[in-house]
Amino acid sequence: MNKEIKQKIFDKIQEYDTIILFRHVRPDGDCTGATKGLQAIIKATWPEKQVHLVASESAAYLAFLGEEDPDVSDEVYASALGIVLDTASENRISNKKYTLCKELIKIDHHIPLENYGDYIWVEEERSSCCEMVVVFYETFRDRLILNQEAAKCLYTGMVTDSGRFKYSGVCGDTLRAAATLLDVGIDTDTLYANLYLEAYGYLKFKAEIYRRMEITENGIAYIYVDKAMQEEFNLSLEQASACVGTLDSIRDVICWMVFIENGDAEGSIRVRLRSRFVAINTIAEKYHGGGHACASGATVYSMEEMQALLKDADAHVKAYKDTHEGWL
Ligand code: AMP
Repeated sequence: MNKEIKQKIFDKIQEYDTIILFRHVRPDGDCTGATKGLQAIIKATWPEKQVHLVASESAAYLAFLGEEDPDVSDEVYASALGIVLDTASENRISNKKYTLCKELIKIDHHIPLENYGDYIWVEEERSSCCEMVVVFYETFRDRLILNQEAAKCLYTGMVTDSGRFKYSGVCGDTLRAAATLLDVGIDTDTLYANLYLEAYGYLKFKAEIYRRMEITENGIAYIYVDKAMQEEFNLSLEQASACVGTLDSIRDVICWMVFIENGDAEGSIRVRLRSRFVAINTIAEKYHGGGHACASGATVYSMEEMQALLKDADAHVKAYKDTHEGWL
């Protein structure tokens, strides 16, 4: 599938001496693993090439995947091939200097809200962008080197973006790609310890979430994590936002979301929407956001807008429940 574009991307990587990798703002396991994994593959295969991963932000819980690189001059960008991974729209690319690159490639698995770049490879049905990088490796496995560093990074992205191989996007291809990585040798004990272990104080925060969570008439569980709560538990925005997973296992609740007060001048509130069975990306798109069918993000700018989003989502979930069976 998509043989021509993969060949084009391979040829472009081969052609350029300098390659710069890009990912999205608020980096997660997938965009971090995909950029670091592809970087490790290119470096192992072509040690003479300059491959830079310049990211303005990184996630603390992914520090075990290694550091990003220092920035380079505008001249270096101008001579480089840019590759943007796991980022659906241009405004979400974290390093804005991507515009300086001589040519740009987009590799992504999100619903394409917009396209950018000279060469575009998007496969929405892939459970992670890391899976696409592994597929890319497999396509050219006689000419590429996949080392343990690359395997660790790509496996991390695969397990985090697929909910530990749990989400519905996981198929035979996903597990075959994971098998390719495991064959290289990954210390999964250490990898999962890095992903699962939580600080004592964070568990206290989770307990507070369960105490304060609310539910709409048709069963949307939600919580508003305001600045006071973030300060009480000494949380960064990223740590506060990570709590969306705590609401994912409530019977009859097929959609859940967290609202995180950003504390900026606009009074913006980050919304993380999650669901099973019912798609909720259309709700996110209505509120300055987008994403996947069952995992989207949005932004609202007032409590009124937050209530409006909840009302829309509640009606959406009601319509789904009224017309479908088998959800639980
Ligand atoms: P999050 O809850 O921020 O992890 O977002 C869930 C998914 O939706 C991720 O794959 C994001 O890339 C995507 N997403 C989040 N916010 C936006 C946005 N404003 N526009 C488009 N996609 C988004």
